[in-house]
Amino acid sequence: MRARGEAPQRLPRDRADRLLAPATSTCPGCGLELPRTGGQTHPYIGASAECWGQYGELLALDYGELDMPDFHRLTVDTYAAQHPGEPGRRAEQSVAVHLAGLYLVLERDADPDYVHRLFPTLTEKERPFGWLEPPPGLGTVTVADVLDASCHEEYGARVRDWAMNVWAAWEPHQATIRAWLDEER
Ligand SMILES: [Zn+2]
Repeated sequence: MRARGEAPQRLPRDRADRLLAPATSTCPGCGLELPRTGGQTHPYIGASAECWGQYGELLALDYGELDMPDFHRLTVDTYAAQHPGEPGRRAEQSVAVHLAGLYLVLERDADPDYVHRLFPTLTEKERPFGWLEPPPGLGTVTVADVLDASCHEEYGARVRDWAMNVWAAWEPHQATIRAWLDEER
């Protein structure tokens, strides 16, 4: 039974809830805390709307001012590997191929174009593993650190640091990725 007068009381309570909502969001992937602005998120890359927005800025730099730098491959692979999302077919595939990209560029010094060409083969094939449970921490460097670079040279160096940091965080699964890729030779 609804007591008389209950409905009008709801409004102040809702208002109080809004006031109590955190002013910042914490990204479930990289842990970045940013002022909450809202916006789009990706269907399976596990990032907060605010972190996803920063990644958009980074990509805009790659496609624009920096005219697709060599390290663009690392930018994409690092961001996806740092934001694995929730278990599911697309997320599983995304994590696997982007970790593969990090391994090939960072450890085998592969040419980014070679990695790019190899990707369709990797996504077509049955993977020998399922969901790779993400380690508790996925690195200490974030997209915000890269955006903070003061010049283009520094920007490239920071992308590489970020990539190495995230690849190192995935250490528990590195052997799986290496074994998978070494079969592709
Ligand atoms: Zn993030």
